[in-house]
Amino acid sequence: MMMNIEYVMDMLIENSVVLLILSLSLLFMFCILFFKHRVKRNSVAFKAREKTLEKAFNLAKDAIAILSQKDEVIYVNKSMRTLLQVEKDTIDNLFDKKPQVKEKKEWIPLETFIQTHKIDSRKKELLFPKIKLKITRKEVRVVNLSLSSLPIENRKDEYYFIINIHDVTYMQKKEELPYHHKLTQLPNQLQLTMDMPKLFSKVHADNSKIALVLLTFDHFLKLRATIGYEESNKILVAFSNDLKNIVSTMDIKAYHTFDNYFLLTLSRVGSIEDVTLLISDIQKKLLDVTSANSKNLYLSLSAGIAVYPESGKINQIYDCAFKALDLAQQEGTGKVKVYLPKKTTHQYDALVLSSHIPKALENKEFEVYYQPIVEGKSKKVVGAEALIRWNHSEFGLISPEIFIGLMEETGYIVELGRFILEEVFKQQKRWELFKFKQIEVAINVSMVEIATGQFVQNIKKQLEHYKVNPALIKFEITESVAMGNEIQLDHYFHELRALGFSISLDDFGTGYTSFSYLKKFPANVLKIDKSLIDHIAESEDERRIVKGIIDLAHNLGYKIVVEGIETLEVSNIVTSYGAEYLQGYYFSKPLPLFEFQKLIR
Ligand code: C2E
Ligand code: CA
Ligand code: CA
Repeated sequence: MMMNIEYVMDMLIENSVVLLILSLSLLFMFCILFFKHRVKRNSVAFKAREKTLEKAFNLAKDAIAILSQKDEVIYVNKSMRTLLQVEKDTIDNLFDKKPQVKEKKEWIPLETFIQTHKIDSRKKELLFPKIKLKITRKEVRVVNLSLSSLPIENRKDEYYFIINIHDVTYMQKKEELPYHHKLTQLPNQLQLTMDMPKLFSKVHADNSKIALVLLTFDHFLKLRATIGYEESNKILVAFSNDLKNIVSTMDIKAYHTFDNYFLLTLSRVGSIEDVTLLISDIQKKLLDVTSANSKNLYLSLSAGIAVYPESGKINQIYDCAFKALDLAQQEGTGKVKVYLPKKTTHQYDALVLSSHIPKALENKEFEVYYQPIVEGKSKKVVGAEALIRWNHSEFGLISPEIFIGLMEETGYIVELGRFILEEVFKQQKRWELFKFKQIEVAINVSMVEIATGQFVQNIKKQLEHYKVNPALIKFEITESVAMGNEIQLDHYFHELRALGFSISLDDFGTGYTSFSYLKKFPANVLKIDKSLIDHIAESEDERRIVKGIIDLAHNLGYKIVVEGIETLEVSNIVTSYGAEYLQGYYFSKPLPLFEFQKLIR
């Protein structure tokens, strides 16, 4: 029972409006008694009651004042004197400090404010919730102000005016706090939710694009574990301060949503390039933060961009920024990706895409990624496969599975193949000169390239030019291509072997290779396809097949690469069967050059 009463009391105290009404009722009672019985002043009983009421008023938390029709101050309680910072026991000086209230964005004297609203308050009580009351230059409070009138009994058209001020500054502060991130003081997730409708209302007004950019530090958890919570927080604060400077000058708002995630909202965006430029600026700034930290830390920032309307509907756009960030992080660290749902899936118009190829070659939109290949026993990186990526200026990253076929059809694969070959040769030379660890790089070869007849000739030319060690280059041809064109291909591969290069039969296990052909083919490496090992952890039969293939290949003098390894379990199984080399997401995804190099430094 006690609990219930306490609970109800708490609720009442919490609720400022209830308090206001309570105070007003009290006030009305007081006034009625005070004025009604003024004539009967002589009554001792009345005097005692009057004193009690006055005491009660002075105990009230609300500031209360009673004015006459001629603006004379008739009664002021203690809270009002404290609030307006006027001397004790005097009532004429209520407005001495010239308090002001903000009405329609303008500061006006409280006295004037009361005078202008007095007449209206005769009809009904006027309530001004959460208005600003400036008491001194520095002291501004947020208050609920009410103005009501009380007719004086037996005096027609005569009133007293009652001012009641309830200070809600404290509550206001309590409400404002959760809208900012405690650590960095940037607006937080909650503020973002509130701002989103406003942000998107601009779209319809001027037809411009809106971008959301989600930023995060790569491997932040590791950083926290390495330098500690406090130190890593300092990095977040320094970065936030930089963000504040960058965005204060533009049509951008920055939020610190949670932990090490930051979000920028950009309105009136012209093109996606504008956004990526801004992000590279921010990434550069981060380097300053890092060096200022003088801890020799390597920090990088990944970014995911979602653009309305390209990335999705308004209510999906925040999620799209996360999808973009996920794409960026899948590719390594310090990457920036735009999420474009329709165009990054397989719904490309093949014709449109092939028409973009020549320009893309010219604009150098292709980039060689390297997927590490590790040695079975030591798990050390001993090689890599060069895998091509297309950074399409409009569609973002396109998978080779989509464009290699198109390039083969249009013949552009020849030019692309030459580009890849030269990139890899150049890179091998650089690694040699800069004394990186020596590794073998595998290059995928398409049948169309070989069929030009210029294939080997071009390789010879590049070999002479770059003078790389051919033992560090391997050419991969898929099993099905090799088997279907054996007569045509054989002598090319013999020639490459004679030059010192290695040859690998890719995607082994997906075609039908005859045993006698395997014996003749001039390859020295067999690459077991992912589909063969995908279920070996669960299937005894499949384990037996893979073990059989490896044994057979070893007997024929082949070395084995197992590709598509995604778990430790599979890695252990194929290692126990004697596979020399392993490749797969379990060890690493294909990486951009800059990232890959760190592994062989
Ligand atoms: P591929 O030659 O069989 O290359 C291996 C593919 O498997 C790569 O896909 C690689 O990213 C992916 N992969 C590697 N490890 C794993 C794993 O653990 N799990 C899964 N699910 N996938 C893994 P990517 O890079 O998309 O390349 C696809 C295909 O495109 C390649 O298959 C190759 O046939 C072709 N390609 C890629 N780059 C080139 C190139 O430079 N020239 C030519 N002619 N073809 C290329
Ligand atoms: Ca391959
Ligand atoms: Ca393969």
